[in-house]
Amino acid sequence: MTLHPPLPVASGLSAPFWDGVKSGKLLLQRCLACHRLQFPPTDTCTECSGGEFRLEEVSGRGTVFSFTEVVSGARHPYFQAESPYLVGEVELDEQEGLILASNFPGSTYADLRVGAPVEIEFQSISDGAVIPQFRVR
Ligand SMILES: [Zn+2]
Repeated sequence: MTLHPPLPVASGLSAPFWDGVKSGKLLLQRCLACHRLQFPPTDTCTECSGGEFRLEEVSGRGTVFSFTEVVSGARHPYFQAESPYLVGEVELDEQEGLILASNFPGSTYADLRVGAPVEIEFQSISDGAVIPQFRVR
C-alpha cells in the first residue's frame, strides 16, 4: 500500500476551492463589499463582515511567511514516513496577510528561508485527490 497524505474533505464552503485545485487552479473568495481576498473560505468576510463573494483565480505565487521542520511526533503514517518534513505558511503575492499553509517539497530546513519566492504546484496524491503545495522558484 502506498502511503499518501490525509485526503482533503470538502465542505459546502470549501468545495469550490477543492474543485479548483483538482483542475489546477487556485480559486479564492473575493469579497464583493471590500474587495479583499480571503482564505480559508467562510460565509462572512473576515475584514468587513460582508457575505457576498466571487471566486477568483490567483497566481499561486508568493513568499515563505514562516516554516518549521517536524522531526518527530507525527501521528499520521504518511508523515511518520516523511519525517523530517517542512511545514509552514505562504503569503500570496496578491495581498498582504493572505496566507495558505503548505509543505515545501524539494526544500530542506537548511536551504529554506523566510521570504523565499515560491510557486504553487498541484500534487496528485490518491484516488483523484489533489493538494496544493508550494515549491521554491
Ligand atoms: Zn469584505
